[in-house]
Order: sequence, then C-alpha cells, then structure tokens
Amino acid sequence: GLQPSLLVSEDKQKLPAGNQTVTASSSWSTLGAGVYRTEEGKPWILPVVKEAVKLLSADPAVNFEYVPMLGLEAFTTAATRLLLGADSPALRDGRAFGVQGIAGTGSLRIAADFLATVVPNLTKVAYISRPGWDNHRLLFTRAGFTEIREYRYWHAAECALDIAGMLEDLGGAPERSVVIFHACAHNPTGVDPTHDQWREILKVVKQRSLFPVFDVAYQGFASGDPDIDAWPVRLFVSEGVELLACQSFAKNFGLYNQRLGNIVIVTANPETVHPIRSQLAIIIRGTFTSPPAYGAQIVARILSDPQLTVQWKADLNTMSTRLMEMRQQLRTRLETKNTPGSWRHLTEQRGMFAFTGLNERQCEYLKTQWHIALLKSGRISLSGLSMQNVERVSQAFYDAVTT
Ligand code: PMP
Repeated sequence: GLQPSLLVSEDKQKLPAGNQTVTASSSWSTLGAGVYRTEEGKPWILPVVKEAVKLLSADPAVNFEYVPMLGLEAFTTAATRLLLGADSPALRDGRAFGVQGIAGTGSLRIAADFLATVVPNLTKVAYISRPGWDNHRLLFTRAGFTEIREYRYWHAAECALDIAGMLEDLGGAPERSVVIFHACAHNPTGVDPTHDQWREILKVVKQRSLFPVFDVAYQGFASGDPDIDAWPVRLFVSEGVELLACQSFAKNFGLYNQRLGNIVIVTANPETVHPIRSQLAIIIRGTFTSPPAYGAQIVARILSDPQLTVQWKADLNTMSTRLMEMRQQLRTRLETKNTPGSWRHLTEQRGMFAFTGLNERQCEYLKTQWHIALLKSGRISLSGLSMQNVERVSQAFYDAVTT
C-alpha cells in the first residue's frame, strides 16, 4: 500500500514575503523588532508586574492547576472591562463577555474560527488593511475564510490615512463580510483614524452589514491612556454594533512570552451569550483545552487592585512617553538637517511604529551602507531608537534620501 509521507511542498505554506526583520549583530542599529526596549536597548519588566509577581509568589491560594476552559474569570472579566469601560452599556445588559485566548495571535485565530465555522450568516470574505499586519491573512485563511481582500489604508503621497480609499473599498464589500480593524496604534503605519473618520467607517459598517473584528494589540500604547485608546471599540458598541475584539497583553503589560490574550464578544441579545460560550468552548477544547494561567493571574491581580492599576498606568506612560520622545527627536534632527521632504508624519503617527515613507531602495541602502535594520516597507520600531543612536539614524536617513 501507499506509505504516508511528509514531503510537503514549501510553496503551500510560504510566509508572506518581504517583511522579515534583517538579522543584525551588535554593531547594528535594530529598528525592526516590535517589542519595547529601554533607552539602554534592554527588555523591560514593568515594575508593577514585578510587584504582582511578588504578591503571587507569597499567595498560598496560587497554584499551577488547570484554569477553566474559557479562562481565568478574574482576568477575562477585568480585561473585558478594561476594553469596554466599566460603565459599558453592553456589560450592564449582560451581552458582553470575554474568553481567554493565547495572546493576540491565538485570540484572533479563535475569533476567526468562530466566525468562519459557527456564525451562520456571514460570508467567508475577510477584509484586512493594506498595508497591515501580515499575520491577519494567514490566521483568517487557515481558520476557513476563502477570500482575503484588502482595504486601502495608507496614502503614500500624503503619508497619511487614505480615508477615501478605505471607505470606498469597505463600501464595495459584499454584505456580511468580516472586517478587521486595528483599534489603535496601527501596525505598521502608526496612523489611526480620527474620531470623525471612525464615525464614517462605522456608517459604512452599518450600511454593508459588515462584521467588525478589532485587533487590540496596543491598548494604552498610542496615547498612554487605555480609555482613550479604546474609544473606537466603545463607539461601535455604543451604536449597537455586534463585534469581536482580540486583546493582546504582550505590549501594554510587557508580558510577551506569557502569551496572554482575551477575546471580547459583544452581542445584541443577552440570550445568545450562553450558546456562544458553548460554541467557543468547543473550539477551544479542540485547539488548546485550557489557556496558560500565570500571565492572567498577574494581570488580574493588577487590574483588581486600584493602587496597582495606577502604577500600571504610570508604567504604561513611561513606555509611551519614551516612544513619543523618540518620534520628536528623529523628526527634529531630520528637519534640522533640511532633509528633503516633510517629516511631520513622524510625530503625528502613534504607538510602537513609524512608517517613515522611505522606499525599498532607501531601506536597502540603510542596511548595506549604515547597518541599520528596518523593514523594507519603511517601518521602524521607535523602541530601537535612543539618545545614543538617534543622531546617527537621522544622518543615515539624510544620506539615504539625498543619495
Ligand atoms: N496584532 C498586531 C497588529 C500586532 O502588531 C501584534 C504583535 N506584533 C499582534 C496582533 C499579536 O501579538 P501577540 O500574539 O504577541 O499578542
């Protein structure tokens, strides 16, 4: 008979090309990685997280038993409240809840699986932004969406949001398509819609009966205030839209490798909560059975203690302030050198990344001539900048633009 074989063709599973970070040695300036780094270029454990870890270690009630299939309830409740706001009408009506996922990525996968296989009246078409976070395509495809379409997002000539293109593309979507939005600190552009633009987007979502999935990977990173960053999600909820939102706690709590995430479900009708929970339980049972607990215990401890919550917001502010300072430093230095072009967009963008507007050739030039590693889309991670290297980076940009 035929022998089974693992001879898998590589083409079948090719990763999205072209956005891999360049491997860099210590003599390089690495502006590629999407993780927060201190001024000294080091990973940062938030002081409030250290404090929570100390409390957990001393707590005899903490152990390593399994947590329930849908997650640690103290965490999912606190996380859902963090996103929707304690006074959310949906929470008050008992038609919003959270289910623990595996960081942002694994939460998106569960959400996509649920939308593709359980919700009966949706198309298998999912819309992602162009440019965007490449993994959305892979996640939604592997979960069963048969068509991934892109909506325009970045206006290259203006270095700004292409709101007209975005509205036009979403306005042409088949009814009941799924659309993925970045709630704040859009990756890679750092450009978020204004409140008025979100209202226009909401109008199209309603007109076309689109189903929104918010990717919330950076709550608190854009403005420094988690409530402000949650505004678009809360707008949609206040307007009665049903939605899913996938929260990551990698960036805003610095818990990257704890793989902590939460899927928020907002439904129109409280009677659907129970069946939705049952269906999500089946998906989770068939995927990982029960989520990891330690990160959830850390975040639950912090968000259930007003004093620790205040400390968390201060830590969040430390990170977002440093990133904003680096934006300003880079822009000022480029302008002082009269580097051709406008650099205003650097300080108008928000979050972890700046979309510099440098083209592929210029990025390649930075790599080969200056040993500066950035994505060839022109995205830099501001956390790779510091007072030690920002002058050199601005010189390099000047050189790349004028050569
Ligand atoms: N969505 C976006 C837009 C991201 O930038 C990231 C992290 N790079 C994620 C989701 C997922 O992060 P994680 O799985 O580490 O929570």
